[in-house]
This record gives sequence, C-alpha cells and structure tokens, in this order.
Amino acid sequence: DVSAPAVSLTHRFADELPELAIAWRAEECPEPRLLIADQALAAELGLAPEQLTTGLLTGTEPPAGARPVAQAYAGHQFGGYSPRLGDGRALLLGELDGRDLHLKGSGRTPFARAGDGLAAVGPMLREFVVSRAMHALGIPTTRSLAVVATGRTVHREQPLPGAVLARVAASHLRVGTFQFARATGDTGLLRRLADHAVSRHYPGDEGDYLGFFDSVVAAQASLVARWMLVGFVHGVMNTDNMTISGETIDYGPCAFMEAVDPATVYSSIDTGGRYAYGNQPAIAQWNLARFAEALLPLFHDDQEQAIPLAVRSLERFGGLFDAAWTAGMREKLGLSADADDAGPDDTLLADLAALLRDARVDYTTFFRTLSRAAGGEAEPARALFPDPSAFDSWLPRWSALSPDAALMDRVNPVYIPRNHLVEEALAAATDGDLSPVERLVEVVSDPFRERPGLARYAEPAPGDFGPYRTFC
Ligand code: AMP
Ligand code: MG
Ligand code: MG
Repeated sequence: DVSAPAVSLTHRFADELPELAIAWRAEECPEPRLLIADQALAAELGLAPEQLTTGLLTGTEPPAGARPVAQAYAGHQFGGYSPRLGDGRALLLGELDGRDLHLKGSGRTPFARAGDGLAAVGPMLREFVVSRAMHALGIPTTRSLAVVATGRTVHREQPLPGAVLARVAASHLRVGTFQFARATGDTGLLRRLADHAVSRHYPGDEGDYLGFFDSVVAAQASLVARWMLVGFVHGVMNTDNMTISGETIDYGPCAFMEAVDPATVYSSIDTGGRYAYGNQPAIAQWNLARFAEALLPLFHDDQEQAIPLAVRSLERFGGLFDAAWTAGMREKLGLSADADDAGPDDTLLADLAALLRDARVDYTTFFRTLSRAAGGEAEPARALFPDPSAFDSWLPRWSALSPDAALMDRVNPVYIPRNHLVEEALAAATDGDLSPVERLVEVVSDPFRERPGLARYAEPAPGDFGPYRTFC
C-alpha cells in the first residue's frame, strides 16, 4: 500500500553486534494471504492497519532502509551442545519502538543446515494462539503479530500449506547467543553483547555483570514459576529457546497439562522426558548454569575467583523459584500471597499437590471449581475426585484460612488453549477454515471471565482424544 506511512525500524542489534548478524533477505511468497493479525498489538506498536501489509509481514517488501538479518546463536539441545544454530528459517527485520520485529518461516538462511527454511500454517497458528493465551494470563512472552499464508507448499510427513509468523519480542537474545559469543573467544564481543542486553532489559545493571546475571536468574525463576502455576509445558527448553529478557519464546511442541502429573510430556521428540512439566525449574537452572559459564570472563579476571561468584548467584534460583511458586499458589487458593499469616499449617500446599497428583484431577478445572468451595459450595470440587476422602480431610484445613473466592477467580483461568481444541482448530485452518482458530483466540484472550455458551472451551479433552503428542 503506497499510501501508508513507512514503518520506521532501527537496527541496534545489527549495528552493535555485527559479528552476530548476517544481512539476509526473505524468500519470495507465491501467493501471500493474511490469515490472522493482532490489531491491538499493532496499535500498541504504532502500526496502522494499512501498514500491516503482507509484504512487511513476510519480509518480501521490507520498509525502505530496513536491513533484515539472521541472528547467530549456539545452544544445548536436549543437553548436547551445538556450536552453530542461528536463525535457520527466521529473520530479524529490525526494532520497532525498541522491540524486535521478527519473522519465522521466511526462507533458508546461512544457518539453515539441512532445513528448508520454511514453516507450516498449523505450527505458526499454534504459536499465535498459545502466545496470545500466555499474554492474556499475564505471563511474559513474545507476542504474535500476524500469520501470513505464503501459497508455498511445505513438505513434512505430508504436504502442508506454508506460512510466515511475524512476532514481536523484547529481544531475541538467548542464552545460546551468549554461548556463541563466548565460543568466539572474543571477550570484547561478549562484553558488548552483555552491555547491549543490560541496556535493553536490565537498566541499572550497567557494568555489573554479576548483577546482570542475578537479574536474569530472577527473571527466569519468576517466569518458570508462572508456567508451572498455569500448567504450561514448554516442551523444548534448549538453551537457544531461553531468553535473556525473561520472556517465553519459541512455541513448538508446547501444551497445557490436564491431569496433574509432574511427568507430563507432550513433545514427540522428548522421549526421555527431559522437559517434563515437573523438570522445568531444574532445567531452567541448568540452562542458567550454561549462561554463567558463558559470562565467566566478565565476572572476574581470575577465572578461579569467577566460578564461586557465579555459583553463589546461581544458587539463588531455588529460593526465588520457591518463593514465586508459593506466592502464586497461595493466590490460586485465595490466600494472600504473603505467607506470613499461613499459620501452623505449612503442609497445606504440599498435601494439595499430592492429592491432585494421586487423583489425576484436571489442573485448570480444579482451581476454578475450588473457588466455589470458598463460597460454601464444595460439591463440584469434591466431585472431581474419584475417591474424595483425602480431599475431604484437606478441605476444612484450607477453609479455616478464609479463602477469598474473588481473588481465586482473578488468578485461576476458566479458559486455556485446550489441547484437543488447538488441534481441531489447526486442522481446520490447514484445510482453509480459519473460524475455529479465530474463535479460540477470542476465548483465550479473556481467560478469567466465565461467559455463557463457552462450556466446551473450559473442559478437558474427552476420553477418546487419547494420549496427546505434539510435533514441532
Ligand atoms: P527450534 O527447535 O525451532 O528452536 O529450532 C532449532 C534450530 O533449528 C534453529 O537454529 C532453527 O533456526 C533451526 N530450524 C528449525 N526448523 C528449521 C527449518 N525448517 N529450516 C531451517 N532451519 C530450521
Ligand atoms: Mg539486578
Ligand atoms: Mg528456537
């Protein structure tokens, strides 16, 4: 649209860290068609609807002066180190208002290795739906701006329609970005990267690299606690999928836990259960240990002295995670987040966790239903347990603390992207019908307010849905 004002991008990443940026262009799209866009996010970015052209959103017609780049990074994938990953099918168009405007599925880059550089409509819409839900749940996340169908066929197990996702993030700096910089042996580059990250995400930590590390540890502890509190399973917590900003990134084989079980795994490739629901805090800390290793030269000139400093910071993760989890769980139970008034009953949370796990209760349904018990109506929650005896002995201990039902309903969602509904919506979209995705996005965008006619969106998968497996 020639009449729309030009989108003005900055290029701080490419300018300050040229060693980590390869200038590159998006592949042409035979027949671009906008499938879905987040107009509220566009407005937040100062983009008018007519500026959201498919040329911008696929990178095929970048704004005048824009210098798209593929970003370099390394990473530990399932525990094994890959020195060179990078954006194999993605491009950073530039920064808009300080935030990254990034494309996924825009064609092969010098980092593509054996990959085709492409993405299919289904997985890009999954990222759109789930990132929208996470944002609505108040969880830090990259945001999805739009999904454009390219008109190109992508070959996976079967031929699929191709798509490009345009997303917005505080940045795309990852633990793996620091691993890459460290591996070059250029401490000047490592320091420039850290300074860049501090300036964008942790103002106040300038020149204090240990303080910066502390800040990232705190952000990740808080983030993973929030995932756990809503039952989110990321599915592929490789160090290249862990941001420095503390935003959730790279929605691949992710899903929300239904029946409570710490061993919950959905990803078809996570055969060892490394990234199971209950492992996520330990994995986040493991990833932060890799981050600390990358930063060591900045902590102290003498590496012997740097290590204990890093270990001390890293060890704060457990306490920070526990505090965030406990405060969040207390809110889910209608108790003040501050545990000072918990009274003598310090096993209340642990006993509940065991209770839910033993009964394999639907996690989301339980907490929402429990708020009615705070108002004296305990039967619906009780009915979720095949054998309610253990619940019956837990309930009066909780009730005695005078839980606040209104608080519970503000923090316990009615609507999450239910796995079977996501699958159903993505399958329809792949066949050309976008309406189930649009409806699902609308529902999960307002997760705490129960509305009539949406009961289907609040229920776990029917028994015949079977064990759920996600593919990335
Ligand atoms: P992910 O598992 O999506 O976080 O990606 C891990 C790495 O594989 C990143 O370097 C991606 O850019 C790369 N990658 C994933 N899929 C493709 C693809 N279809 N073509 C090229 N590179 C890809
Ligand atoms: Mg700090
Ligand atoms: Mg990734």
